[in-house]
Amino acid sequence: MQYRTGIGFDIHRLVAGRPLFLGGVEIPYDKGLLGHSDGDVLIHALCDALLGALALGDIGEHFPDTDPKYKGIASSQLLKTVKGFLDESGYKINNLDAILIAQEPALTPFKKQIKQKLCPLLDIPDSALNIKAKTNEGLGAIGNNEAIACYVSASLVKI
Ligand code: MG
Repeated sequence: MQYRTGIGFDIHRLVAGRPLFLGGVEIPYDKGLLGHSDGDVLIHALCDALLGALALGDIGEHFPDTDPKYKGIASSQLLKTVKGFLDESGYKINNLDAILIAQEPALTPFKKQIKQKLCPLLDIPDSALNIKAKTNEGLGAIGNNEAIACYVSASLVKI
């Protein structure tokens, strides 16, 4: 088996009084994502895509939100643990593709900064990570600016 693929999805509620972290980058905004951790939907979806490709279950099994150890944790720490699983697997990242869905704030201006944060964490070149930013066309909870969601697909190749 030369290739493996995985998908990840996450959604968190946007609330006042919390910093907004996406892809490990703090985005200036008057609301942030509610969660046991920092609520970083991009990193959570990324972890799930990698865990999926490795057939290692999901982020909730590895980092339960009932465990006080993970309260307020930077999601980049969770990603480091998942990267460790990847390093032990005999596979490496071929490419990652993400879709961030937020009505507000506009995220396109932060895509480069997010890539500069995530690529070194994952030890991948800039060309191996793509981020797309979309609105939800004003529809539903995301469109109403009550939540931000993210999908990630991951492709791994045997080392
Ligand atoms: Mg999450």
